[in-house]
Amino acid sequence: MKGFPPTLTRLINAFSKFPGIGKKTAQRLGLHVLKADIGLITDFSESLVEVKKNISYCIECNNFSENEKCDICIDEKRDRSIICVVEASTDIFLFEKTGYSGLYQVLGGVLSPLDGIGPGQLNLKSLMGRLENVNEIIIATNTSVEGDATALYISRLIHPLGIKVSRLARGIPIGGELKYVDEATLSKSINERVIMK
Ligand code: ZN
Repeated sequence: MKGFPPTLTRLINAFSKFPGIGKKTAQRLGLHVLKADIGLITDFSESLVEVKKNISYCIECNNFSENEKCDICIDEKRDRSIICVVEASTDIFLFEKTGYSGLYQVLGGVLSPLDGIGPGQLNLKSLMGRLENVNEIIIATNTSVEGDATALYISRLIHPLGIKVSRLARGIPIGGELKYVDEATLSKSINERVIMK
């Protein structure tokens, strides 16, 4: 970047590698750092490193976690007879707002043969290992073709074990991603979930 000192150019280049940050925004952020309070910048830079160092995945459900098991998995008050299967950890934050009190399983994606994602790439093995004392599996994958195919695949795995399998009700638009659905709709789609046959 002509006219900027190399350290500032380096920072701007780093910002521009983040998703959704174009060159102009990266430049604005870089210049903001230059003007901002040193305390804020120190805190920001430390938290970037700490997140990378301290957060990994829960050995039970594959959610983000700072410990071996996440806060939800170790919470004695959660209903252990029900597991909600989601595509990504970020979906858990959405369901937590609805008052759902069961456990979760994070798949880490959906079946997508064209992208080379088969059952082996999803966290299904760990799901199968935690079904003791479970009465119901709610499949909360997105309502895309891949999400539906994944739901069907999982229901066929679970059904023979005599465990109830349900899918979120269709309050969610087809092709819709959960993150764009409001809290009330999501709540309704859990309450009115449909049993998969
Ligand atoms: Zn967990």
